Amino acid sequence: MAEYKTVRGMRDMLPGDAERLRQVESQARTVAKQYGYGEIVTPIVESHELLSAKAGEEVKSRMFVFKDLGGRDVALRPEFTASVARLVATALRNVARPLRLFSVGSVYRYDEPQKGRYREFWQTNYELMGSARPEADAETLLLTNRLMQANGLKKFAFKVGHVGILKGVLTEEELSENVQAAVLQLMDKKQYEEALSLVKSAGSSPKGVNTLRSLVEQRGTEVQATVARIAKIVADYERSVQAAKNLEEILNLVLKSGCTTELTVDAGFARGLEYYTGFIFEVYVPDLDIALGGGGRYDRLIELFGGDPTPAVGVAHGVDRIMLALQGQQTEKPVEMENEVMVVPIREKLKAEALRVAEQLRNQGLRVDLEIMGRKMARALEDADKRGFKYVILIGENELKEGAVVVKDLVKREQNTVKIEQVPDLVKGSKKPCERTQES
Ligand code: AMP
Repeated sequence: MAEYKTVRGMRDMLPGDAERLRQVESQARTVAKQYGYGEIVTPIVESHELLSAKAGEEVKSRMFVFKDLGGRDVALRPEFTASVARLVATALRNVARPLRLFSVGSVYRYDEPQKGRYREFWQTNYELMGSARPEADAETLLLTNRLMQANGLKKFAFKVGHVGILKGVLTEEELSENVQAAVLQLMDKKQYEEALSLVKSAGSSPKGVNTLRSLVEQRGTEVQATVARIAKIVADYERSVQAAKNLEEILNLVLKSGCTTELTVDAGFARGLEYYTGFIFEVYVPDLDIALGGGGRYDRLIELFGGDPTPAVGVAHGVDRIMLALQGQQTEKPVEMENEVMVVPIREKLKAEALRVAEQLRNQGLRVDLEIMGRKMARALEDADKRGFKYVILIGENELKEGAVVVKDLVKREQNTVKIEQVPDLVKGSKKPCERTQES
């Protein structure tokens, strides 16, 4: 009798491991609810064309591709973003923005099996569609931060960058999209010399090559100082200057939100997937030299799948790697979740404060949606009402000076000024008027 084994790169999860997998999944679901992300389930098998449209050479070359019995070219999903983009371009086309979508499940890549690298692995995935604003970028990093903490990870750090800084130089040096993608792929693998040779042979001026050479050396945990150095290096490349400004704004929001996790700005940081257009980040633990999660902004993907132009930002986390990182670290009990509220800054310039209060309320166990569309207050209230929120938390300068916010009860049509730490007491115990849905 033959003794059957699992296929190379595939694993069984026995009791214990399976339970740990489901625990991480459950934390991820809680975080999704806390940030207002609705769960969707998409197929593991999708058309090869869809999955390879913008995946990048590396991921494309590692897909499990086959013909089904009907002769269709299909593949096992190597990630979730293409499926979500397909949905947003079709079934969810007319649903009000912003759209926050969460998925969890197995994905497949023909990677070389080793510690933390498998051919079947699990991801949790969060996509935020419809906002080009830095608050949206900041949100994906903050929810990642919360997911790591919720799982009980104590030591972890972020690497952050911006594809637009590198791309700005490459575009103004008139390198084609294909060459740009190849350069970023090499940079993703830290093959900087090869990347610079390619830039040179593709026709960049010596100034372009030198700018990139200095750029890839810029990294540091002093966020403002590092971004300032980057901005100085790219001063002659307008698009890169704008990208550096955008990065600075996002990181300032993250810092002002009260996030104390270490951030390393790395100007030579690129990510393997081709569709990124802006802010990118990864999260690491010191004892594992592999990323536990990564994401970024991809403003053109939805169009590519036939949808309306839709700015978007998303992040995927490797559940198996979170489990690995947790081995040997203590887990903490998750915060119980309570009712949901929407936080609205009454003025644009209060968005950092709004982000900070939202984080504070989530720490106290509330489910919090943040207004990230830059809407005026009246529009934001209308939207909150339509989506079935009972309470809106208004962030105003005068109240903040007293450590307070205005809590607006949309059902009773009344409002009270309340200290921030008392908001959960006010909100708890109240019944929601109706179930909120993403579609409303
Ligand atoms: P990516 O979108 O390629 O950055 O993948 C997102 C996350 O999935 C990574 O940060 C890893 O945590 C995880 N991941 C990627 N490839 C693998 C793999 N072969 N095995 C296990 N986890 C992986």
